[in-house]
Amino acid sequence: MSNNKNNPTIPEDHPRAQSLHYRHVLVDGMEKKIVTPSGLCAHGRGEAYDYILGETTTDAAENAMEAAVAMILSAKHPVISVNGNVAALIPKEIVDFSNETGSLLEINLFYQAPGRLNAIEQILRDNGADKILGLNEKVSVKLNNLSSNRRIVDPDGIFSADVVLIPLEDGDRAEALIESGKKVIAIDLNPLSRTAQKSHITIVDNLIRCIPKMVNIARSMKKMKAEKIKGIKNNFNQKKNLDQSLIHMIQYLQSKI
Ligand code: ATP
Ligand code: MG
Repeated sequence: MSNNKNNPTIPEDHPRAQSLHYRHVLVDGMEKKIVTPSGLCAHGRGEAYDYILGETTTDAAENAMEAAVAMILSAKHPVISVNGNVAALIPKEIVDFSNETGSLLEINLFYQAPGRLNAIEQILRDNGADKILGLNEKVSVKLNNLSSNRRIVDPDGIFSADVVLIPLEDGDRAEALIESGKKVIAIDLNPLSRTAQKSHITIVDNLIRCIPKMVNIARSMKKMKAEKIKGIKNNFNQKKNLDQSLIHMIQYLQSKI
């Protein structure tokens, strides 16, 4: 794990080294205008749930990842919604995932400070992104049923998508996307959030662990027949899977008593 200028003193064997490393990555991202203060709060909320997940990827999350990749590979026009935390934490991995699955990357922000869009575009480009949507505010369109800035979407991206992957999403926007008829895949460490509860597929895992795994799943699933991929997608039971994540958390907590 490489130290950056904000965390020169984290020893590799520190019990929370990885968590501290990513906190500093986010603070660095804030200095570069990629991340906002509320992005730091969202990360903290996620970390709390990760703690009671045992900071591990569960079988339920692995199953949800497979179903999610199957849904994306079966889609006509899949789009990945990228916000500041995603760009700061896993820029290379999200670009790799978009390339492996043929999904488009669209930057979609709640807080649109001057220079922020460019900073996020730059980190994605530095990590190999070619086509990036959401950059031209002049040709943007609006999703119904949503009042925040995030209702503004790209007509060639989220607006016309059939499947949208939303790592770290707010519940209002997840609902608006679902109401506009899209299939929504969420990555959310909190199985109780509105986003997790409303989405068609929810992966209860840390996106830092999850996206690299999804790149590998996509690589091997692409070799399967279309019918088999559809079967994986159709066999997924969202309610049962969310319950399994909650049960995992309950058992983890009980093991500590
Ligand atoms: P909702 O609006 O869906 O009810 P919320 O208001 O509790 O959820 P938000 O602040 O809107 O939450 O969105 C942040 C969400 O992202 C949180 O649910 C948090 O658990 C999740 N999160 C934060 N960091 C990560 C991460 N690294 N990986 C996965 N999920 C994360
Ligand atoms: Mg919210």
